[in-house]
Amino acid sequence: MSDFDLAVRGGTVVTEHGRARLDVHVAGGRIAHVGPARPAREEIDATGLLVMPGMVETHAHLMDPGDSSREDFPSGTAAAAVNGVTTVLEHTHGSPVRTAGDLEAKREHLRGRSFVDFGLVAHAWPGMAGEAEGLWRAGTAYLKLFTCTTHGVPGHDAASLLEWFGRFARLGAHSLVHCEDESLTAAAETRLHAEGREDPRIVPEWRNRSAEEVAVATVGVLSRHAGAAVGVAHCSSPAVVELIDRERAAGARVAAEACPQYFLLREQEIDEHGPLRKFTPPARARVDADEDEMWRLLRAGRLTFLSSDHAPSTVAQKRESSIWQCHFGLPGLDTTMPLLLDAAARGRLAYEDVVRVYATAPARHYGLWPRKGALEPGADADLALVDPGAAWVLADDLVRSKAGWTPYAGREVHGRVVRTLLGGRTVAADGEPAGDPVGEFVPGAGAR
Ligand SMILES: [Zn+2]
Repeated sequence: MSDFDLAVRGGTVVTEHGRARLDVHVAGGRIAHVGPARPAREEIDATGLLVMPGMVETHAHLMDPGDSSREDFPSGTAAAAVNGVTTVLEHTHGSPVRTAGDLEAKREHLRGRSFVDFGLVAHAWPGMAGEAEGLWRAGTAYLKLFTCTTHGVPGHDAASLLEWFGRFARLGAHSLVHCEDESLTAAAETRLHAEGREDPRIVPEWRNRSAEEVAVATVGVLSRHAGAAVGVAHCSSPAVVELIDRERAAGARVAAEACPQYFLLREQEIDEHGPLRKFTPPARARVDADEDEMWRLLRAGRLTFLSSDHAPSTVAQKRESSIWQCHFGLPGLDTTMPLLLDAAARGRLAYEDVVRVYATAPARHYGLWPRKGALEPGADADLALVDPGAAWVLADDLVRSKAGWTPYAGREVHGRVVRTLLGGRTVAADGEPAGDPVGEFVPGAGAR
């Protein structure tokens, strides 16, 4: 009788360190052996495929509970599963988790609703710093802060940031900060309204580079003074990374989160697409050289890891009000992995970098590694099987998110996830979710 439940045979195993032709053997939902073939009760033929650890998406908004016309866990995690993402860290601004009790209630609500494993992010709500310890010990994945009032979430001023960062330092808690300076965005908004502006160009003027860079600098200084490790969400440009590097050189521990929209979309696209390019910070790249520099920073690890910042609305929802009023955000879970695989096919990244930036580095940063983000004995048997040669065109009708569209429609990409395993069970194959939503809650590092 074999010791192994499953063997994934004949594929090329890719980790952040390299690749090799090895079989992956699974027992009890975990990776038990990676090496030459051994007998197993069930086999998957991965000949010609890349075998990667399941991806770890750390910034997604699935509106569940919340506005389920935009998304919910079954739809959002189906999009994740078919694209090789096996862990999603989620938060929803409309139904924020502000206390340990909120976290427990949300966890209970989500039982049986997720195709992939998930962690839950809490909102660090101004005036509620006393909740930090309870949230962290209850297993929140990380705490999210805003420096400006956005999506209905109130912003923290510098004093409030320092108070929260001090608590994070004492607890060893993880956090992610949305960085845009409140006074600068507010002043721009006042001016643009006074001018009667309603055109899409208000977005980059309102959510301007100064506002982002000032907030990033503030967060860097305060986190360093508090001794807290922090993450800067959705770094939009090389200038932001340079500020972070300056703080790192002075002793700060700042992770820089990257998202595909700051590589592949252009600032001027908003003129044509309006609300369908409204997200904040907005796209900053103007020319191909700007994009080149972002890939270079990601490859070099100065951008620490990548996420989607999946924040879906339907086209109708995006268009039902003015450019001022419509929701910020883009759908991303359907396209982030295909775009990364395509970047590897084009030589922007190595496949090892894809694993590093979208699986291993985020899992390590948030304390989920090596259970998640690793392809080695002892890790959960979460695997993404990739056909690196598959050529296809991203299209709205392939989007599983309730958004039903993608800003990358029409783009030809090379590389596709053909099968996804969660704990050794197939949760998606050939672009379709498979089986029941068996994903489970993954507690954050503070609960262990
Ligand atoms: Zn977000």
